Amino acid sequence: MSKLVSKWNYPTTVRFGAGRISELPDALAATGIKKPLFVTDPGLAKLPVVASTLKILDEAKVPYGVFSEVKPNPIESNLTAGIAAFKKGKHDGVIAFGGGSALDLGKLIAFQAGQTRPVWDFEDIGDWWARANADAIVPIVAVPTTAGTGSEVGRAGVITHEESHTKKVIFHPKMLPGIVIADPALSVGMPAFITAGTGMDALAHCLEAYCAPGYHPMADGIAVEGVRLVFENLPKAYADGKDLTARAHMMSAAAMGATAFQKGLGAIHSLSHPIGALYDTHHGMTNAVFMPYVLAFNREAIEGKIERLAAYCGIKGGFNGFAKAIIKLRKELKVPHTLGGLIKDLDMDKKRKALIADMAIVDPTAGGNPVKLTKKAALSLLENSLSGTV
Ligand code: NAD
Repeated sequence: MSKLVSKWNYPTTVRFGAGRISELPDALAATGIKKPLFVTDPGLAKLPVVASTLKILDEAKVPYGVFSEVKPNPIESNLTAGIAAFKKGKHDGVIAFGGGSALDLGKLIAFQAGQTRPVWDFEDIGDWWARANADAIVPIVAVPTTAGTGSEVGRAGVITHEESHTKKVIFHPKMLPGIVIADPALSVGMPAFITAGTGMDALAHCLEAYCAPGYHPMADGIAVEGVRLVFENLPKAYADGKDLTARAHMMSAAAMGATAFQKGLGAIHSLSHPIGALYDTHHGMTNAVFMPYVLAFNREAIEGKIERLAAYCGIKGGFNGFAKAIIKLRKELKVPHTLGGLIKDLDMDKKRKALIADMAIVDPTAGGNPVKLTKKAALSLLENSLSGTV
């Protein structure tokens, strides 16, 4: 068992440590939830990790319902069905259990079940969140089983708007789970591909938050340590999924990425979002493909910062050394170097490329990129990621 056990209250209450899933009934009581809806995804629902968690609830005589109609990259019909299950079961709170997809959908059910306006009215634009009836939002206990999105400590949920093929971020401060149980033992069963993709997602969050312009030294500090944790532990967790210490550090890095990215994200995400929405690719793995191309594109604006980051992480060679370390890490984790390696039978014509570039430049993350992401730049980054030219 890993000795990494702790409790911290930033940005929310996090009970951290292997085996702490046993505290789920207590966490429910502490958040005032008497009859939770347990939200997970269909893959996880079949795994022992869910069966053993439900057994904990059974033994504590907690009445609950289970909802698992959650697609990777969740869609509105998942939310509608989840709300129906929540209302039918007369639930008073949500256990969001899984990777980013189940965590986001669980949080969105808790947020949206009591609202009267459509969910799209609460997109993360200006103060749209203030339109929501905050009193109708029910409490959430979040339990991550991947180590990447950090959604467990975030105030937003991502959902795909199918008509426009766009990923929308729905935001409300009360979507932040009241208690997180971060139990790295729950993540040992993650397949290597998901370990790699989610771990690279955590890295993308830390890296883009750190590089985003703006004054936020707290986010910068968290992001820098998050990057170090990923470089030191992701290869270990990938090589040996049962390495609980590496899994624990990755679970921390994921939460740190999401805590830091309130400062902003950048072009890795701006390009990854349309690709995920159009081709249903894994979010973190898509970020991993774009990472070196975007890093090179931003060089003039971030060189000094990356030199400091490299030095902190013990990576020699300044900016070039850091860029090489990213490529090496990707290779170790079998991340495809090009988009063609990620998406089977990819055939992008001019029109499709223009559409992706158009979607990227209006993505809410584009504003956080240190160099302005114009349509020309987005097209050029897309071409590079197709040809493999860093
Ligand atoms: P995911 O939740 O889609 O899960 C991927 C796969 O891993 C699923 O098949 C799932 O069943 C499986 N899985 C999860 N945990 C497992 C375990 N312990 N053992 C075995 N299998 C396991 O993947 P993800 O990368 O965690 O989340 C991606 C989603 O999160 C996307 O929809 C993305 O848009 C969203 N996201 C949200 C935020 C946010 O701030 N809210 C940030 C980044 C990404």
